Amino acid sequence: MSYLATADPEIAELIECERLRQVNGLELIASENLVSKAVLEAMGSIMTNKYAEGYPGKRYYGGCEFHDKVENLARDRLKQLFNAEHANVQPHSGTQANMAVYFSVMECGKDRMMSMSLTQGGHLSHGSPVSFSGKMYEVSQYGVDLKTELIDYGAVEEMAKKVKPKVIVCGASAYPREIDFKAFQEIADSVGAYCMADIAHIAGLCAAGVHPSPVNVVNFTTSTTHKTLRGPRGGVIMCNEEYGAMIDKAIFPGMQGGPLMHTIAGKAVCFKEALQPSFKDYSRQVVKNAQALAETLDEADLRLVSGGTDNHLILIDLSNRGLTGLEAEVALGKAGITVNKNTIPNENRSPFVTSGLRIGTPAVTSRGMKEDEMHQIGEYIIRVLKDIQDEATIKTVKDEVTALASRYTLYPESL
Ligand code: PLP
Repeated sequence: MSYLATADPEIAELIECERLRQVNGLELIASENLVSKAVLEAMGSIMTNKYAEGYPGKRYYGGCEFHDKVENLARDRLKQLFNAEHANVQPHSGTQANMAVYFSVMECGKDRMMSMSLTQGGHLSHGSPVSFSGKMYEVSQYGVDLKTELIDYGAVEEMAKKVKPKVIVCGASAYPREIDFKAFQEIADSVGAYCMADIAHIAGLCAAGVHPSPVNVVNFTTSTTHKTLRGPRGGVIMCNEEYGAMIDKAIFPGMQGGPLMHTIAGKAVCFKEALQPSFKDYSRQVVKNAQALAETLDEADLRLVSGGTDNHLILIDLSNRGLTGLEAEVALGKAGITVNKNTIPNENRSPFVTSGLRIGTPAVTSRGMKEDEMHQIGEYIIRVLKDIQDEATIKTVKDEVTALASRYTLYPESL
C-alpha cells in the first residue's frame, strides 16, 4: 500500500483502520468471508484498465486476447466446480445475476413470480416491493411453517397451483436448513414454471458437496462469489446449454456494459482454490463450526430458529429476552463481535430493529478457528447478551475477543 499512502493518505489510513478492525475483531456476518492474497492481487491488478464488452472471441474492443483467456479460465473452472453446462461470470453482483434470469424469462409488468418472503429468509432481489424485482413483476411470497420454521413444500405447491407463476425462486439469505432444490423444480414443472435457485449464501457448501447442489437439478442457478465461495464480490449464473445464449444476452448487452475484468480474474482464482481438496475440508469445518456455536447458544437457552443449523448460519430469536436485534447487534459490536440484526419468522418489528440476530461462521473458519473457539465465541455472545447495559462485561469480553483474534491471522497458510 506504499503508493496509496503517498498519493492519498486519507484513504490509505481508512483502509488501515478497516484492516485493524478485521484483524482485531471476530467477523460473524454470515454473508462475509476473507479472500486469499492471490484473489486480492488479481483484483488489484492492471486487468481493471481494459474494456472488454462482449464475450471471449466476440468483443467490441481490440486488445482483449488476454482478457479472453482469463474469462475462459473463469468460465471453465466454474463449470468444472459445479459440473455445469453453461456459465456466465460477468454479473457485477448477485442481484444482477438474478435480474438477468428474470429479464430472460419474464415480461415486465405482465408475468408473475414466486419466492420466499424477505422476513422469513428471502432476499430483496427476490421480489421485495422496494426492489426492482417487486416493482417490475407481480410477486407471491411463500414462507416457512411457523411451527417447524422449515420451508413447507406442500404450501409452496399449493401456492404455485393457484398463482401459476412464470418463475419460482428458491434460495435464501437467512435460512439455516437444507433446501430441497429437486422438490422446487418438481413444483415448477407441475405448473409450467421455470425454477431459479439462488445459492448466494451456500455456493461454497454446494461446490464442496456439503449441501446438495441445484446445478443440473433446477433450470437456472445464480450465486454471489463472495460468501461461502470465498471469492471477490460479484455474481455468476449457471444453466444448461439450451438457455446459455439467452442468459449471456441478458447480461450483455441487456443490462451491463464492460465486465469488471479484474474481478473476473479474481473469480477465476477463487474457483481454482475451490477446486482444491482443502476447500472441501474448509466447507465441512464451516458447518461443524456453525453447529458447535449453535450448541453453545442453545445450552444457554437462546432460542434458535428451527432449533439449529445444517449450514453456515444460525438465526437467534431474541423475542423472549426483552432484546431487539438492533440492541444486540450494537452491544456485540462494542465487544468486537460483528453480527447483523435479522428478521425472524413471525417477526413483528421493522427490518431496522428486528427480533433476531444472524450469525455465520465462514470468515472465522477461514482464519483457522475450530469447534473449541466456537464454544468460546458462543460464551462471549451469551455474556454480552445477558445484560447489554453492563459496560464492564462488554469491555472484558472485548479484551478476550482481541486476544483470541490475535492468535489467528487474516491470511493463514491455507489461504
Ligand atoms: N441473493 C441472496 C440469497 C443474497 O443473500 C444476496 C446478498 O446478500 C444476494 C442475492 C445479493 O447479492 P449482491 O449483494 O451481490 O447483490
